[in-house]
Amino acid sequence: MSHSKKASIFNKDIERTTWHDETLWFVRQKRDKMAYVIPEFQQLRDLASQIKEHTLSQLDEYLLEFERNALKNGVHVHWAADAKEHNEIVLKILKKHKAKKIVKSKSMLTEECHLNPFLQQHAIKVVDTDLGERIIQLRDEAPSHIVLPAIHLKKEDVGETFHQHLNTPKGEKDPQRLTEAARQHLREKFVQADAALTGVNFAIAETGSVVVCTNEGNADLGVNLAKVHIACMGFEKIIPRFNDLSVFTRLLARSATGQPITTYTSHFTKPRPGAEMHVVIVDNGRTQQLGREDFYNSLKCIRCGACMNTCPVYRRSGGHSYNFTVPGPIGSILSPNLDLKKHSSLPFASTLCGSCTEVCPVKIDIHVQLYKWRQQIGESNALPMSKKLSMKVMSKVLASSKLFSFSGKMGRTMIKWLPYSMTHNKSVNPWAKARELPEVPEHSFREWYKQNK
Ligand code: SF4
Repeated sequence: MSHSKKASIFNKDIERTTWHDETLWFVRQKRDKMAYVIPEFQQLRDLASQIKEHTLSQLDEYLLEFERNALKNGVHVHWAADAKEHNEIVLKILKKHKAKKIVKSKSMLTEECHLNPFLQQHAIKVVDTDLGERIIQLRDEAPSHIVLPAIHLKKEDVGETFHQHLNTPKGEKDPQRLTEAARQHLREKFVQADAALTGVNFAIAETGSVVVCTNEGNADLGVNLAKVHIACMGFEKIIPRFNDLSVFTRLLARSATGQPITTYTSHFTKPRPGAEMHVVIVDNGRTQQLGREDFYNSLKCIRCGACMNTCPVYRRSGGHSYNFTVPGPIGSILSPNLDLKKHSSLPFASTLCGSCTEVCPVKIDIHVQLYKWRQQIGESNALPMSKKLSMKVMSKVLASSKLFSFSGKMGRTMIKWLPYSMTHNKSVNPWAKARELPEVPEHSFREWYKQNK
């Protein structure tokens, strides 16, 4: 199903759409307030973009430097070419330790690789420990946002889910009491876990350590209780030096949720005595994206979600309408790299207003890349037939002055004389579903200009 079709389903619940839109706009405003209390915010964005640019240009060296240093620290390093290999590596580690229960903090990479269903097929129970992630896991849904995975749900929805799965009283919707119920439920899972899996926000080549940012401390609790820690990262998470980290930590939480810093910024450098630590470095299409001149810098993304919070299309269509692990503007650039045909509607899910580019902390030219994907999708014949035909007709009309004038005249006459039921027919003119057509002028601008010069 295309993005627009899925979005129209989301839009049927007007109250939820409005609330979703307003909530994310509130987060965007928090981001603005927190960003501009530091006068050097724009310089930080420049610097972050330059550090990432440099890193991407020497990725091979930095990844190997990271591996060398991690090995020195006693960490096991694994390389996975794709999602399948990533999942198999994780499974092999878990099997070696006879792990049957694992706790997992937020990791978009494991979502991308569909690790949870894979492990469950092998009789390994995975519990997501980030509160938002646990809510959607209980509901058997995918995250709808990379930072706020359950943002499409209201507290009443969470109350009902917890009532069904955690036995909270029917109708309970007090956020504090619901959080406390989740806390009690998760404590037990932490204590029972045989292994802890985490994502990685940054991997530092110079020290061989990984940095994980959370607001709930769930990554720390999991790692410090279990005997095995597996950290999974896409290879673009690498940064060269320890000193570079402060640039990104100052930008990440400000851009994501409007906080000065995440509550926990945890550094994992070596295994605890008696424990084991693994890092799995994944490609899964990233090398291909790195080789695309127009799109390689999308790999600078630090997954803050700011482009989603500001995007007028994302806010009104909901994350699930993108049908991709990373929704919103950045997901619409990343997804065609993996499957152009399947995700061909996503680069069109944008007004190209450029607001995403304006807020991106690493200065990815998101709206420019969306426009470039549209061109490539058009050239590669991945557009639906209806769009292809209408674009062909439009290009003929716009290329000929005579045809343009004629079609203008025809349009003005037809709108005037055709019955409302035809001009507002939903299948002929979906644009008019929620709009009135403008009043038709007597003359075109050209005719007026000729007379009035
Ligand atoms: S593209 Fe930029 S704004 Fe969007 S999630 Fe990535 S870093 Fe954040």
